[in-house]
Amino acid sequence: ILDIEVREKAFGSTIVLHDIKLSLDNGEAAVLLGPSGCGKSTLLRIAAGLDKRFSGKVSVQAGLDGASSSPPIAFVFQEPRLMPWLTVAQNIGYADGRRFDGARVNRLIDDVGLSGHADTLPKALSGGMAQRVAIARALYTEPRILLLDEPFSAVDAFTRMKLQDLVLKLVEQRGISFLLVTHDIDEALYLGDRIYMMGARDGGIQQDLSVDLARPRDRRAARLAELKS
Ligand code: ATP
Ligand code: MG
Repeated sequence: ILDIEVREKAFGSTIVLHDIKLSLDNGEAAVLLGPSGCGKSTLLRIAAGLDKRFSGKVSVQAGLDGASSSPPIAFVFQEPRLMPWLTVAQNIGYADGRRFDGARVNRLIDDVGLSGHADTLPKALSGGMAQRVAIARALYTEPRILLLDEPFSAVDAFTRMKLQDLVLKLVEQRGISFLLVTHDIDEALYLGDRIYMMGARDGGIQQDLSVDLARPRDRRAARLAELKS
């Protein structure tokens, strides 16, 4: 559904990504794991089409199906990036400049567990609540693919677990494929059907992408089996 091939990505004279190949299958939950500074965000921005200054190519096979004019990819950043002057409902419903659909916004507010907060302004939200809004805003555009860049790293461990389960539930319901970036190994094991590893080696930055886990049926069980072995 998504194929990314980066021959080279540099900032000035510094090569950040080199010979990277990564693909996301339909319905797949992929996690990109690697240490700080190895180029994870850079790669995700390229995948999203937010950065076109690289050599290589990105191809998205999630075609627009008929009536839908929505872009196939949505992005969730590390920080919620809400508009401070807009309410929760407005932040979600004005996500992509399309028509504000109040009923759909309200359904999403319920889906992410923010019932009763439609008219709340971002400054009155906790970090976890704000990230729920960001997730709803991404889903409002009805993407086939969701890209998430360390979406839970700014919240406490308890909230993180709840948000992880929330995202899993919402994408599974909608048949969305996702690629999530993290440097949390536990999170990668829990969320990923497939884990891509990116590492820094040789003083320079070199990527080592490898495919790991088979698709587990029961994620908790798979994770426990991993941790035990
Ligand atoms: P983290 O886990 O800390 O978010 P990351 O793996 O996402 O790290 P990137 O943000 O992709 O890493 O950055 C990779 C490298 O590219 C870093 O060395 C960083 O300094 C550099 N870099 C990123 N963005 C720019 C930019 N706009 N201009 C110059 N260098 C940049
Ligand atoms: Mg990053």
